[in-house]
Amino acid sequence: MRVARFRHAGGISFGAVEGEADAGPGALTVAELSGLPMDVGVRFTGQRWALADVRLLTPVFASKIVCVGRNYAEHAAEHGAEVPKEPLLFLKPSSAVIGPHGLIRLPAQSHQVEHEAELAVVIGATGARRLDRAGAAAAIYGYTCANDVTARDLQRSDGQWTRAKGFDSFCPLGPWIVTDAPDPDAEVRCEVNEEVRQLSRIKDMIFDVPTLVSYVSHIMTLLPGDVLLTGTPAGVSPIVAGDTVTVSIEGIGTLVNTVAAMD
Ligand code: MG
Repeated sequence: MRVARFRHAGGISFGAVEGEADAGPGALTVAELSGLPMDVGVRFTGQRWALADVRLLTPVFASKIVCVGRNYAEHAAEHGAEVPKEPLLFLKPSSAVIGPHGLIRLPAQSHQVEHEAELAVVIGATGARRLDRAGAAAAIYGYTCANDVTARDLQRSDGQWTRAKGFDSFCPLGPWIVTDAPDPDAEVRCEVNEEVRQLSRIKDMIFDVPTLVSYVSHIMTLLPGDVLLTGTPAGVSPIVAGDTVTVSIEGIGTLVNTVAAMD
């Protein structure tokens, strides 16, 4: 199931996106769900819209976004970094989250902002604390696409990553949450203005999703709606105002954002 949050003429709702994504946005509809589906399950209200007639919003409310660095060997190599022996973690603030078609704003403090396409994991209603791999898999609500936008120059100069990763708008998420686990062969792709910059597969991760969720859950309690970004493949590159950045993961969806100067 594809669970979206969206604005329509009557307000904001969650809904189930129906139809074949490959047939284009015009073929998709969204069926309204009652309440917060992560908490109450799937209850249709009977209302339905064409997806083209609503505006998709950030699909999740996260108390925190836990991120994994250097989880693809080729990406570690492109920065001259070693592959870590344990997952390398950092945090992004929840204020960095924007939704589909939200603007990535370039901060004045950086001259090198880059895209990082990533698979995002959304934690389910029961949260996650000190879980083994099987428990971690059961604690996952679903998956979406993310862009771990990074001020690369500040990441280097600061020595730690809070500022480089934490600017407002530096965590696009969406377009919706898919509740089925993706195929390990699924492609993770990033295009800038329709030019492919990153292309890898989920199975190329060094630490897989259950391992990462279990690892993090032994450090901090993951609360319902929290998001785990699982690392980016090789091919990160600068983005500038006017660029269109598209993160797509097979079986999940396509997340499109435009880059703009700070307002
Ligand atoms: Mg990243």
